[in-house]
Amino acid sequence: MLRLTILFSLLLVPTLSLALDFSLHKNQGFQPGPSLLIIGGIQGDEPGGFNAAALLATRYRVVAGNLWVVPNLNFSSIIKRSRGIYGDMNRKFAELPKSDPEYPQVARIKAIIQDPEVDLVFNLHDGSGFYSPSYIDSQRNPERWGQSCIIDQSRLNGQRYGNLEELTRTTIAQINRRISPARHSFQLKNTQTATTDTDIARVFRPTCALITICWRWKPI
Ligand SMILES: [Zn+2]
Repeated sequence: MLRLTILFSLLLVPTLSLALDFSLHKNQGFQPGPSLLIIGGIQGDEPGGFNAAALLATRYRVVAGNLWVVPNLNFSSIIKRSRGIYGDMNRKFAELPKSDPEYPQVARIKAIIQDPEVDLVFNLHDGSGFYSPSYIDSQRNPERWGQSCIIDQSRLNGQRYGNLEELTRTTIAQINRRISPARHSFQLKNTQTATTDTDIARVFRPTCALITICWRWKPI
């Protein structure tokens, strides 16, 4: 009976730990200031997002405030070059059965996002084509996501750093100073989906400010 119990336990282990854990890197500045959480790799086939987060975690020294970086949220999918080997993790934040292979990872990142120390969250992605507020051609139009900073409403009332549009415009101005040619410049994309979307931004809106940054996607 004991042998059977041990065998059964061993069979259960792979089921409970199917997805690999991500890492959290905390970089504290020399001076006090706000805390920024950067998340990369929620979708494993978007290397712009997870490579940028990895560079921030390993190559930068913080002067003021705190920088928390999760460069490899969907680690299992990153190493498989898949958007999501267990489905789209970005749609697992509202409700998720405990039987989901990524339940432990989603629960852990939720707790990190909701940490009272976190003031603002940047979620890094890659997107297809180039976002443009007006239609130019099939690769540059309002339906595209590449080279955009995305918010879903202009202002989040009652939240620290809830002035999302103002913050995003400042961020875009900083980014575009270093981008050449000009046709690769970033744009602000306000999806106006504050009440309809079901992704990570919608779920955490009541408790934190979140901005999505989306590079132009290139297949890997
Ligand atoms: Zn993505």
